[in-house]
Amino acid sequence: MIHRKRGFGLTAKTLGITLMILALIIGATLTMSRSFEQLQDQTQTLATSEMENLMISVRLVQQSESLGSLGARLASADTHSVRRRALIELTDRLNWVSRLTQQLANLSLNTELINQMKTTQDHLNSNIDELNALVSEHIDGSTTVGLLRQISALSHNNQELAGQLSILAGYFSATMRQQIANQSERLAGDIQSQQQNLLAVCVLVLIFTLLAGLYFELRVVRRILSLQRLVSSPVVNVDKFDARGGDEIASLASTVRSYVQRIQSHEAQMQQAHQEMTYLAEHDALTGLANRRHFQAAARRLLRQCTQSLCVAIGDIDHFKQVNDRYGHAEGDQVLVNLSKHLSEGLRESDVLARFGGEEFAIILPISSLEDGQAVLDKLRLQISSQHLTPDTHTDLTMSFGIALIDNSQMTCDASDQQIETLLDAALVAADQALYTAKRKGRNQVVAAAETVYAKAI
Ligand code: GH3
Ligand code: MG
Ligand code: MG
Repeated sequence: MIHRKRGFGLTAKTLGITLMILALIIGATLTMSRSFEQLQDQTQTLATSEMENLMISVRLVQQSESLGSLGARLASADTHSVRRRALIELTDRLNWVSRLTQQLANLSLNTELINQMKTTQDHLNSNIDELNALVSEHIDGSTTVGLLRQISALSHNNQELAGQLSILAGYFSATMRQQIANQSERLAGDIQSQQQNLLAVCVLVLIFTLLAGLYFELRVVRRILSLQRLVSSPVVNVDKFDARGGDEIASLASTVRSYVQRIQSHEAQMQQAHQEMTYLAEHDALTGLANRRHFQAAARRLLRQCTQSLCVAIGDIDHFKQVNDRYGHAEGDQVLVNLSKHLSEGLRESDVLARFGGEEFAIILPISSLEDGQAVLDKLRLQISSQHLTPDTHTDLTMSFGIALIDNSQMTCDASDQQIETLLDAALVAADQALYTAKRKGRNQVVAAAETVYAKAI
């Protein structure tokens, strides 16, 4: 029988779970790779542009500070060559300061601060121009107190403006440092959260893999093992096969179950056939009584028990040929069947009755006295003759019996099969001879064998 699959099969489920784990791993890898790229970018920015900006602002502080001393050198120049050198240096520094300020302005970090710096630079420029003109006038010979005071005031102003510029640049540098510190802190936080994310994804993949493993353990491995246990147990119980689930294992269980059922049904048939054959091998087909083979096996068993002596008897229907001749063979058969029934009913459970062939029967009576055995058979004989077993009720069916005693008291328990067989044959011969005597003496009687068969003598 082909088991129709319902729901998803194991192949589909395996594929589904594998794809899910794969998607989880790929997704996690891509996400991690992206966040690491971002972290790399942030580190790069921190390492290059932010540090560069910090350097610019530091350089701006240094340049601004030098403007003060250069202004003082211009104010104290006593020759035109000294004045020109100081002016060139001052102009050069101012250009530097302007360029650095522009670089910071390009970053558009703090526009207000930049504007303040630019305004201070403008004031410095005009202050230096003015100072240069007055110093030139002083070198050319003017030594008025007013001029000297003006030079001193402008020099002082230059000092103050340079200091102001330096403070603004210093403030800028401090802001940059703070920014870098903040960014480093953020970066450290980002790295930590990415670490946690990575850990969470790893745990998720681990849990998922464990769940997948558990699922396969329960849904595949255990079911196959239980199927194997069921099939390998000495008595296979088909009711325990679990064919639910509609997957490949359920289908396998269903197939194995129907296979086992077929085997069990064949086994039952074979056992029945064997029982029938055993029965036929040990019983007579017409009367259902034990046959000679069964009789001899039972007799051997009883003799082997070596507990008590036995009587062995052979009975033969008198003039049975006439019954056949008068009523036909089929009726003769029926007489044999009826007679067998009466013989069985007239004997005890412990006695053994067999049809030896034709209209001849053998009996084992576990009785230790020949007289007692003879009495049992006499009673049986009278019962049979009174039953009117022939179709014609006027004619009585009679039987003759010959009986012999086996004295088992000297029997050794380790007697060989051969010894037992010889003992039984001797008893049967003695009983047969007694039967012959009974026939000769006029039939319908029980004759005991003259001599006891002794186990010791065999
Ligand atoms: P006796 O008193 O001397 O035993 O005479 P008898 O006629 O019984 O003896 P005999 O041996 O001459 O005949 C036995 C008859 O039993 C012969 C045979 O036809 C008959 N017989 C043997 N087996 C069967 C059987 O299975 N069915 C039937 N109907 N008759 C059988
Ligand atoms: Mg006969
Ligand atoms: Mg006969």
